[in-house]
Amino acid sequence: MTPLVLQNTLSRQKEEFMPADGKVVRLYCCGPTVYNYAHIGNLRTYIFEDLLHRTLTLHGWGVDHVMNITDVGHMTSDSDSGEDKMQKAAQREQKSPWELARFYEDAFFVDCARLNIIKPNVAPRATEHVAGMIALIQRLEAEGYTYETDEGIYFDTARNTDYGKLAGLNLAAQMAGAREDVNIDVGKKHPADFILWFTNKPTHIMKWPSPWGEGYPGWHIECSAMAMEYLGETLDIHCGGIDHIPVHNTNEIAQSECATGHPFARFWVHGAFLNVVSPHAEASGGKMSKSGENFLTVQRLIDRGYDPLAYRYLCLTAHYRSELAFNVETWESLNAATKALGKIYELKSRIGENDDLSEEEYARARQTVFDAISDDLNLPRAVAALHEAKSYRLWREFDSVLGLDIESRSRAAVATPADADDLPAEIVTLKQQRDDARKSKDFPRSDALRAEIEAFGYTVGDSPTGTVVKKNLL
Ligand code: AMP
Ligand code: ZN
Repeated sequence: MTPLVLQNTLSRQKEEFMPADGKVVRLYCCGPTVYNYAHIGNLRTYIFEDLLHRTLTLHGWGVDHVMNITDVGHMTSDSDSGEDKMQKAAQREQKSPWELARFYEDAFFVDCARLNIIKPNVAPRATEHVAGMIALIQRLEAEGYTYETDEGIYFDTARNTDYGKLAGLNLAAQMAGAREDVNIDVGKKHPADFILWFTNKPTHIMKWPSPWGEGYPGWHIECSAMAMEYLGETLDIHCGGIDHIPVHNTNEIAQSECATGHPFARFWVHGAFLNVVSPHAEASGGKMSKSGENFLTVQRLIDRGYDPLAYRYLCLTAHYRSELAFNVETWESLNAATKALGKIYELKSRIGENDDLSEEEYARARQTVFDAISDDLNLPRAVAALHEAKSYRLWREFDSVLGLDIESRSRAAVATPADADDLPAEIVTLKQQRDDARKSKDFPRSDALRAEIEAFGYTVGDSPTGTVVKKNLL
């Protein structure tokens, strides 16, 4: 069998992957900070991690997948300054931070389900694992890796000889820069030093007693403590978005390895960003962020008539380490993805189980797809090979990785055109939605709904009484 090869951020190379015990992959992924809905940029990262999870399964391994829920301690800047994102959002929404966290955690998993993202085996909440974080900080303190300031307990990066190895950081240069800019926070010895435990925050709502006084954990220590609690001291794979390389994941490595003396993760795998392109918006060319008009949620896609799986398909067409541009003026990439997905769903009625491939051709095409997926998750190459093979059977076979609901969404051909009375409930709903969209002159939505109905194997027409839908014949 072709081995699985992954680009390891740590070695900057593609390396052959095997779980350390040969059986079960211990996979940790940095999870959401639950102070708002996830935007489709965040979800691109979770789709990439889901594709990795499914690929590990395709290779025959079990997957022990842990993803944290950050519900305290993530400051408005990824370093330690600013306010806690949870507390700030709670004030804005006039909820308690606890209510806010549960609300957005639930919303996050609803969005994941709409995108066919497999739920992690465990999704531990930071607020429920504070004791483990305190114990880890005490371990670091006992070894002399910490110091105290007016803000709280800091990690002393000068004591960690290979600090910054993930991102190739140069601490001496940072220090020199900081001296010139004088931008070292009061009490911090080096700009890269980071907080482990916040004290002296009287207005903070979420706090816990600790050996250093009442306070709350820093964001980085949360991931180390929860990853080690559920998966042991050395993970097989740790994932995240590329923005996490220079600060968050770097700090996770420093504190975990100084505490245990072992490597924290064997493989580090990072996904690239979804970037917003808009000729008019100020945010043009920028990454999608949780504020501003380029903030797109799965619900907004649905409201505009798109199938969330069309977004998943779009993510399959770009390699996870390449940036993906999303034009929020034209939505052209999602329109094209909707069409392509419709074509896949049509295959069953067009060619059925009996495609033109001989057994050898089928086996060769299967190998091509398997090899592409195994080559650092090259899903764009796999999807191209699948389109080329024109085989419903092959799409169905690889749907365990693609997650596009190929079997349930595809329609078998029927011999007679259905008249409106026989339409399945989902088509009747789509037809009504399209009539409503046309009444309110929302033509982009009406077009998207037309494409969605067509994707189920129907022809869509207009009449004075509204949308007319006919089942396609063979
Ligand atoms: P957060 O909830 O802000 O901690 O982010 C959750 C995940 O989304 C992290 O793994 C980030 O790296 C990732 N992320 C944030 N913005 C984007 C984006 N525009 N495109 C892709 N991933 C992103
Ligand atoms: Zn993390």
